[in-house]
Amino acid sequence: MYPQGTVELAKLLSGLGALDRENAAICGVSIRAIRHWRAGDRRTSPDRYRTSAPTCPRCGGRGLNDEAYAYLLGLYLGDGHITVGRRTHILWLACSDAWPGLLALAMQTTALVMPSSKVFCASHREVACTYVKSVSKHWPCLFPQHGPGRKHERKIELEPWQQEIVNNHPGDFARGLFHSDGCRLINRVRRPLKGGDRWYEYPRYLFVNRSADIHRLCGEALDRLGVAWRFSKPTTISVARREAVARLDEFVGPKY
Ligand SMILES: [Zn+2]
Repeated sequence: MYPQGTVELAKLLSGLGALDRENAAICGVSIRAIRHWRAGDRRTSPDRYRTSAPTCPRCGGRGLNDEAYAYLLGLYLGDGHITVGRRTHILWLACSDAWPGLLALAMQTTALVMPSSKVFCASHREVACTYVKSVSKHWPCLFPQHGPGRKHERKIELEPWQQEIVNNHPGDFARGLFHSDGCRLINRVRRPLKGGDRWYEYPRYLFVNRSADIHRLCGEALDRLGVAWRFSKPTTISVARREAVARLDEFVGPKY
């Protein structure tokens, strides 16, 4: 018997179009188990997410889910890139195997932003990472920051329509940034007292990235949320004050 959470995650990944082999690797179960659950749950067929409607919110007039887009933009700026395929483009999002819930969320969000494309995942077990992949020639329309070279070696600027979405949904954008290039960790501090040492635990958030432009975008989103932050290193934004951590917990929270 597998835990219900594992079964639910496997069904969700199947529903989003994950291959049985990849799904089995991510969930740590046999391919037979995946097939069995998939056969018993036809409601989550991959075709549910496919439509023949216009494919692009920028050049095709399709509506865009702004909250999902703000989150996906954060993931893309943190751990995503776009490659050029044959007459198309591929969006890749790197997700750590340590956080299967975030992997499922990345797949779900990608499907919401580009419902005309199936979402795949490719497991790289040697680096404990799974890539979420989606193929569409319209990914550069949605992420015009796409360009040659690494993100920290080129200018990253949002277009006015992107800035408007980020301004309206700074919490979703910050969640994407912190879920990709950030973490929430517990600092343990020892206080010597008369009756013996006492340990105190303080949660804090870090966002680590090498692009000054992406730092600026992260800092602006935190300002908009009223979250105090500072640079603890040139590459690292730190949120450590108790009330700032509590405020950011409303939007980000621990990874899962
Ligand atoms: Zn387009």
